[in-house]
Amino acid sequence: MRQKFKRIVVKVGSNVLTRKDETLDITRISMLVDQIAFLHKKGVEVILVSSGAIASGRSEIHPHKKVDDIGQRQIYSAVGQVKLINLYYELFREYSIPVGQVLTNKESFGTRRHYLNQKNCMTVMIENGIIPIVNENDTIAVSELMFTDNDELSGLIASMMNAQTLVILSNIDGIYNGSPDDPSSKILREIKADEDISEFIQVTKSSFGRGGMMTKVNIAQKEAKEGISVVIANGEKNNILIDLWNDCKHTLCTHFLPSEEPVSNVKKWIAHSEGFAKGEIHINKKATDLVNSDKVVSILPIGITDVKGDFEKDDIVRIMDDKGKQIGVGKAGFNSDKIREAMGKHGKKAVIHYDYLYIE
Ligand code: GLU
Repeated sequence: MRQKFKRIVVKVGSNVLTRKDETLDITRISMLVDQIAFLHKKGVEVILVSSGAIASGRSEIHPHKKVDDIGQRQIYSAVGQVKLINLYYELFREYSIPVGQVLTNKESFGTRRHYLNQKNCMTVMIENGIIPIVNENDTIAVSELMFTDNDELSGLIASMMNAQTLVILSNIDGIYNGSPDDPSSKILREIKADEDISEFIQVTKSSFGRGGMMTKVNIAQKEAKEGISVVIANGEKNNILIDLWNDCKHTLCTHFLPSEEPVSNVKKWIAHSEGFAKGEIHINKKATDLVNSDKVVSILPIGITDVKGDFEKDDIVRIMDDKGKQIGVGKAGFNSDKIREAMGKHGKKAVIHYDYLYIE
């Protein structure tokens, strides 16, 4: 596993970072920092995606004026994030390792320019030995603007930063093949990127964080398909990161094996941008068959039957087949009006170039 640990994203959930009374578990955080510092000194480039802001703010602030649910989340995250990052800062300083805070939101993954700015920010941090500590900017991300959870965010970060490994630390040892409460259940040790394991997934969520097992598995398989090795392990276990680094095979965890087929960076971005799509492009049967074949094809106006929504050039759009089913996503080469004008006509430029087309 060591060779796969050149650049890793470590995601730590709220349950790992907080005690039962919701205060930050300083002992545990300190142990995690020890392990990350060890890996850092070994030359591993670590990006930490840390939850825990809202949980830690909740234990700190008791608003004396009436605040609705959204307001509470905003207050807790604003206050809690300061506490959290301050703690990391102090703990890493003991090792003379500088850290920096990266707060992001869904919108910043939807626009290629924002995406590249974020990527550049974290790249220069890593190049300068600074560990990026990432969280969602929960002060402005509310309702539909939110990531599903920090598992989703960690997947996006792993793809964006071309990490070889994503480690999701939760409070269980991995994915069980039955109920975790049943003593005969066992941890699934290795899962292929395209293996169907939905029958094993518990729908229960962790108590503090937003994440559940289903999102973890979905994200893990999506990342594994892109060639990233994903590990789900127990962050409450002492030395878990070092054990994984030393010998992943013999450490209790679920390992999603990376697929061998490489995916280009821009396609990775497009694949993850589905949630930010601004419109739809419907294509006919002939075009559907072509994009589903092994051939390298772009989407041309002649194959388009409908354009839904108003979007700009370079926005992400969904690709719908002749039965109206989504088959992929792509980056629009023209705005929606121009595509409507060209739709059904011969000899026009590609609307979605092959390089910017991701078929699922
Ligand atoms: N961003 C949230 C926080 O720091 C956590 C979201 C999640 O639980 O996945 O509190």
